[in-house]
Amino acid sequence: MNSESVARELAEPNLRRLLSTAGLDVEYVSASGNTLYRQGANGEPIPVLDYAAGYGALIFGHNHPDIVARARELLDEQTPVLAQFSSHPYANQLAAELNRIIRRETGSDEPYYATFANSGAEGIEAAIKHAELDRVLRLSAVFEEIEASTRRVREEVRAGTATVPEGLGARLGLPRPAAGQDALDLLIAEIDRRNQRRRAKPPVFVALKSGFHGKLMGSVQLTHNEAYRTPFSALGAQARFVPCDHPEALKELLQDERGTLLQLTVADGGVRLVERDHHTICAVLLEPIQGEGGIRPLSRAFAQEIKAFAEEADCPVVIDEIQSGMGRTGDFLGATRLGLRGDYYVFAKSLGGGLAKASVTLVREGRYRPEFELLHSSTFAKDSFSCHIALKVLQMLEADGGQGYRLARERGAALAGMLRGIRTDFPDVVKDVRGHGLMLGFEFHDQSEATDDTLREAARSSMFGYVIAGHLLHAHAIRTFPTASAVHTLRFEPSVLLTDEEIDRLEHALRDVCALLREQAGHRLVLA
Ligand code: PMP
Repeated sequence: MNSESVARELAEPNLRRLLSTAGLDVEYVSASGNTLYRQGANGEPIPVLDYAAGYGALIFGHNHPDIVARARELLDEQTPVLAQFSSHPYANQLAAELNRIIRRETGSDEPYYATFANSGAEGIEAAIKHAELDRVLRLSAVFEEIEASTRRVREEVRAGTATVPEGLGARLGLPRPAAGQDALDLLIAEIDRRNQRRRAKPPVFVALKSGFHGKLMGSVQLTHNEAYRTPFSALGAQARFVPCDHPEALKELLQDERGTLLQLTVADGGVRLVERDHHTICAVLLEPIQGEGGIRPLSRAFAQEIKAFAEEADCPVVIDEIQSGMGRTGDFLGATRLGLRGDYYVFAKSLGGGLAKASVTLVREGRYRPEFELLHSSTFAKDSFSCHIALKVLQMLEADGGQGYRLARERGAALAGMLRGIRTDFPDVVKDVRGHGLMLGFEFHDQSEATDDTLREAARSSMFGYVIAGHLLHAHAIRTFPTASAVHTLRFEPSVLLTDEEIDRLEHALRDVCALLREQAGHRLVLA
């Protein structure tokens, strides 16, 4: 490789340039616990306290020694990492362990079956596909019933035990049959035409405003952020977005999507036209705490409204636990706080212990379609390495009667207490502190009318949170970022190893940021 090819940035150069405007294009050379290390000018390591923690993917921090030891063991044992289409007892063990934990937290005995993937968005795509397969198969069963009923009607009319009443065709806007035309044939053709038109309607996925479910072709359409979603609208799934805490929007949506399928039957010797309810809603998705939308906890009341909506629409509730799960909120499931049980769950991020890429989609038995197993797969999914590492993560969370969850709750409360204290002292600068456990958001008031030019321009160009992140990095050696879709909110999602000293360091840094904003002292920002 010549030096020119090394110097030229070919790996997402535009992103690198953008990061550099806020001083965020630094290179980290090693990592352990809540600390990443940069290389100083003389090769010395400069520690950076990491509150972004792999965007919420490091519940046990970087390179946790127990997880690393397990990884070493697996490699030393020459474990067959890729052995597709064989028996995978480790995958079964992982599914069983997830089931045991979910049973404990939800109180339900119904088993969940597992599908494996490599990333969060991929797990969501599996959920979308499974829900659609289920919808299509259920719809096919309804059409079989309608067709069987039509055959019975034909037989009875042919046998003379039933007749087509005058005016039945008119109900469907059909003219009187002309000479030589059969009234029943015309009726059946019209019913079939209308039913097929209804059947061809694409499925509708219901998601929440500010929600984030990934950036692949299907999942990005369920991610509310318009910048991510709209360039690709023509490619993917159809979604309708509902604002949180607006149950009337759910009712409206159900009404909009409602329609009928027509079926012929015989009653009292007459052919009758029956309308069967039909709607196109395929699934409803939610995050127990919206992560990228600004760390926004879902309310218990709205979670119950969603459950009632899904029951009425007879569609699954897909709980996206990719960021909120694996203990981050103080329970294994973020949804436990809401008293909400999912028909589907999707896990990723911390499931891989910071070393593996792993995602699991669970579907409860009552809604599971075994056919799906032959339709969906990935070369890398369900590999032994990621399954064993995920099992290690679960074991560490569950050890000592749930030490991982206790730590997330206790460390989270200490961190939240500190953040709330700053908000009390700077109500003019800090708008809100939100979240649970180690999934916390710190929202600044909008600075787009700031008197300071630098701050105002940063806010107007949606760079505000990134500029504050750059200052935290260079002035205080602290790393965090705004959430992806709410750039005035900084995310704090450290590992359960968080120490009081690390909380104190963050407090010092955030108080400096708040003072800088109160004084409108943009010139004090350190961005390199
Ligand atoms: N869902 C949620 C709730 C997420 O937070 C994310 C990632 N931020 C995803 C889905 C997508 O996961 P991935 O980046 O692994 O595709």
